[in-house]
Amino acid sequence: MKMIYMDHNATTPTDPRVLEAMLPYFREQFGNPSSPYSLAHDPRRALDAARQAVADCLGCAPEHVVFTGCGSESDNIAIQGVCALCDGPPGHILTSAIEHHAVLHTCERMERCGWDVTYLGVDAGGLVSVADVEAALRPDTRLVTLMHANNEVGTVQPLEEIGEIVRARGIPFHTDAVQAVGKIPVNVDALGVDLLSLSAHKFHGPKGVGALYVRPGTRVEAIAFGGQQEQGLRPGTENVPGIVGLATALSIAVEEMPETMARLRSMTSRLTSGVIERIDGVIVNGDEAHRIPGTSNISFPGIEGESIVLGLDMEGVAVSTGSACTTDEVGPSHVLRAMGLAPNVAQGSVRFGLGRRTVDEDVDHVLAVLPGIVERLRAMSPFSSGSV
Ligand SMILES: *Cc1c(COP(=O)(O)O)cnc(C)c1O
Repeated sequence: MKMIYMDHNATTPTDPRVLEAMLPYFREQFGNPSSPYSLAHDPRRALDAARQAVADCLGCAPEHVVFTGCGSESDNIAIQGVCALCDGPPGHILTSAIEHHAVLHTCERMERCGWDVTYLGVDAGGLVSVADVEAALRPDTRLVTLMHANNEVGTVQPLEEIGEIVRARGIPFHTDAVQAVGKIPVNVDALGVDLLSLSAHKFHGPKGVGALYVRPGTRVEAIAFGGQQEQGLRPGTENVPGIVGLATALSIAVEEMPETMARLRSMTSRLTSGVIERIDGVIVNGDEAHRIPGTSNISFPGIEGESIVLGLDMEGVAVSTGSACTTDEVGPSHVLRAMGLAPNVAQGSVRFGLGRRTVDEDVDHVLAVLPGIVERLRAMSPFSSGSV
C-alpha cells in the first residue's frame, strides 16, 4: 500500500536536491571550517554561501544569521539569551498560550528563575489580539515572544502590527517562525522582529539544524559555552552538511513558494470542504483568512482524534492529532483549549498537514475512507448518536 503522508507540520521528507547538495560535505569536503589549511576552504566557503542564502531569504545581512542545532534550540537561545543578561532583577516576559513547547517550557523555566510570564489568550480562531498585547506590556517587560504560524491549527499572527508596538517601546521581539518560513513570505523587517527562529526539517531540509536571526543591537547572551563559532552564540563545530542542506532547502522553498502556496491552498480547501460535505457535525479549527497553506485542523466531536489517526493509518494515511511534540501531553491540546474548544471536541481533533508532494489523488483517498472511519467510531462511541 502506498503511504500517503499528511503530517508535514511534524516534519517533511528531505528534498532529493537538498540531499545531493549535502553529500559532498560528508565525503571529500569534510574539513572543519575553522581549520587553517586548504582542505577547510571549501567547507568555509559553503558555510558563508549558506549564510548569505538564508539572509537573502529573510531580508537581512549574513552576519545576523546564527546557525543552531534545531528550531527548539533557536527558541531557547533567543529566550534564555535575552533573559540571561546579568544586568538587573528578573523582569516580565509576554508570550501566548498557544506557543510550541520549545517556547512554553522555556518560559516556564524562566518563571522558576523568578521571571513573571504572561501567557496571552487567543480568540476562537486562534489569533492573538493586538490590543491585548499592548495592554499586557509593562515597564519591566524585557521580552515579547509570539509565534508566527501555529503548528497545530496553522493560524498566522498579526506580527507586523504587534512588532510596531513592541519595537516602539524598545522591547526585544522574538518570533518562533518555524511553521512560517518556507511556506509564506517571511521578511524580518516587514515583521518588525529582533529575533526569529526557523528549522530546516519543516521545509524539506534535514533534521537537526536550525537558525536564529538576531537583529543588530539586540543583546543576547550565550547560554552554552565553548568555541567562538556562530559569534559565540552557538559554540561547537558547525554542522556543515546540515547547514548547506538548510540553505538549499530554504532557497528552493522560497523560489517555488508562489506555485506551492496556490496548489496547497486549493488542495487543502478541497479536503476541508469535502470533509464538511461528507461528515455531519465537524468543526474546522483556526481562522480561515489567516492560515498557512497546507494545514487543516478538524474536530469530530464525541470521538477520539487518536482513533481517527489509527483508522487512517490502517488506510495508508499518516496524520496526527496535533503537535508531534505533544504526544506526551495529557488531555486535549493546549492550543485548542486556549481557543475555547470544549475538552471532548478538542479531544476529537485531527491535523491534516499537506505538503509539496501531496497530490489530488491523496485528497481523494482521504475523502473516500474518512467517512467510513468516523461512522464506525461514532457507532462505537457512547457519547454520540451513532449517525454520520
Ligand atoms: C517543529 C517546531 C519547533 C521545533 O523545531 P525542531 O527543529 O524540531 O526543534 C518549534 N516551533 C514550532 C512552531 C514547530 O512547529
